[in-house]
Amino acid sequence: TTSTEIPNIELTNDELEDMDVLSGLELSASSDIDVPPNLIDQVIGQEHAVEVIRKAAVQRRHVMMIGTPGTGKSMLAKAMAELLPKEELQDILVYPNPEDNNNPIIRTVPASRGKQIVNAHKVEARKKIQMRSTLIMLLIIGIIGYAIITYQWLMGIIAAAFIFMALKYSTPREETMVPKLLISHDPNTPAPFVDGTGSHAGALLGDVRHDPFQSGGLETPSHDRVEGGAIHRAHGGVLFIDEINTLTPHSQQNLLTALQEGTFPITGQSERSSGAMVRTEPVPCRFVMIAAGNIDAIQGMHPALRSRIRGYGYEVYMRETMEDTPENRKKFLRFIAQEVKNDGKIPHFDRGAMLEVLREARRRSNRKGHLTLKLRDMGGLIRVAGDLARQEGAEFTSVKHVLAAKSASRSIEDQISDEYIRRSRDYDITVVEGTRIGRVNGLAVMGSDSGSVLPVMAEVTPSQGATGTVIATGMLKEIAKESITNVSALIKKFTGKDVRNMDIHVQFIGTYGGVEGDSASVTVATAVISAIENIPVRQDVAMTGSLSVRGDVLPIGGVTYKIEAAAKAGIKKVIIPRSNLDDVLIEDHYRTMVEVVPVDHIEEVLQNALVPENREGFLSKLRKMAVTPTTIFDPN
Ligand code: ADP
Repeated sequence: TTSTEIPNIELTNDELEDMDVLSGLELSASSDIDVPPNLIDQVIGQEHAVEVIRKAAVQRRHVMMIGTPGTGKSMLAKAMAELLPKEELQDILVYPNPEDNNNPIIRTVPASRGKQIVNAHKVEARKKIQMRSTLIMLLIIGIIGYAIITYQWLMGIIAAAFIFMALKYSTPREETMVPKLLISHDPNTPAPFVDGTGSHAGALLGDVRHDPFQSGGLETPSHDRVEGGAIHRAHGGVLFIDEINTLTPHSQQNLLTALQEGTFPITGQSERSSGAMVRTEPVPCRFVMIAAGNIDAIQGMHPALRSRIRGYGYEVYMRETMEDTPENRKKFLRFIAQEVKNDGKIPHFDRGAMLEVLREARRRSNRKGHLTLKLRDMGGLIRVAGDLARQEGAEFTSVKHVLAAKSASRSIEDQISDEYIRRSRDYDITVVEGTRIGRVNGLAVMGSDSGSVLPVMAEVTPSQGATGTVIATGMLKEIAKESITNVSALIKKFTGKDVRNMDIHVQFIGTYGGVEGDSASVTVATAVISAIENIPVRQDVAMTGSLSVRGDVLPIGGVTYKIEAAAKAGIKKVIIPRSNLDDVLIEDHYRTMVEVVPVDHIEEVLQNALVPENREGFLSKLRKMAVTPTTIFDPN
């Protein structure tokens, strides 16, 4: 047969040692690794982004970062705040405006001076109040004295009571004149990092609180109700906004104004609140903006805002994987040490545990010779493993904790896919034994790390119209549709039948989320050929692969997850493109469950999937038609 043993390309720990994975470092645990103090030096694998951030920090430029969640975008934004000079930071104060109560005055002072000023005002106000009360007390004593001398008791007491009440219940004007500290800084803290992700207008742009008592001496003075927004708190620092496209167009427009002016007045954001009448003088907000999102964030973004960032800054695409070189492996180990240190509660990882995490990083990269950079998820795995070790009271986190954490911290998609497999078994949707005509088990990936068996059915009917058509159902998206078109070219050639007088129906089963990509084209071709030629297909075989119009089997993504899903569903043999062989990083216990068959050409797929008794006639007919596969294979 054409099947080959899958080479063991996952390295065992011993082999890793042989390869001098730690570059000669005598590491026994992650506690031996030094963690750099600066955040920017802790970022791994995103060298380009780090370089841009360093440059942008010097020049105070805006940055747009596009990429998968958990690759370090907000970490880089924080790191940039650390790089900005803190000498230029300012405190912002709001003063009442005696001329126009609704237009409070804004003043800036050097960082950490604000608090002193407000305190000085408070002391002053208290002194004045004290003086006032002393005066009033003297007045009361005078009146009472006068009353005693002149025997006018009643008048004296009434007058004293009036004065006392007036003192107690009127807010002294001095107190209401103390300025409000809107933004303040400690002299030793770095430039601010403000996360404005998902803020509503008030939180982003500042607001003026509503005052239920708007007159009669009980109202809160308007300057006291002014609240700074994220843009103001970020003054002199970094404003980070993830998923930038989820901000309302109105907020994006205002954000643009703030970027252009470097100031933005604060006004009440809610129309019907008494705060809406108040509008401060312009409040400074010179921040560096870091906008982030995944690739469709670009589409949802206000075009003027995007062009502003592009015109006055940089755009960076975040990497999802890095090459598995000794140097990068070392960085990855440092990442483990960082996560342990930053968590602060979990025990350090021993050598074995570190190598197991490294192995998982290789697996999750989904690409040969690479390590994943979706590090938030990896951090999650590290913390779960560490927690398990801590619960046990272990001194170090070891391999067994990492393995247990791996099965505990599975993605939602993976858990759903398991549930789906279980349920579809109950209803016989998944067929993993026997043979069927026109039915093939394909494989698909859900989310980013979860495979599933995706059956495809084909049926051929006499054509109703003048020419035959291929009808595909199952919520196919663009690329999937095109792949069907390519497959039909191949079928014409392969079956040699006049497809003009038949309609070919192809149905993808259970694809409620739609089908994307062309990794099912091998499956579709097999199902259709089986239906046209009436040759049954083995149901214990599953397959994945893209198909060229000439019948070559081309590489696809997610091969590891697909094989694992097939094994879980009870499939015995999985056909994959040969060029994906190096991407196969399935876990050990799946190795005994499935046989993996790498192929180069559709003919090999048919050889493996069609039932032997019926296929030979067809295959020899194929050969006679001189459809030469690019690789020659031994039919035995
Ligand atoms: P994003 O903003 O891209 O969604 P984050 O910056 O919030 O991702 O990353 C979450 C966490 O994952 C970080 O706090 C850090 O612990 C870890 N992390 C992510 N990317 C990196 C990286 N490139 N280097 C080191 N740690 C990382």
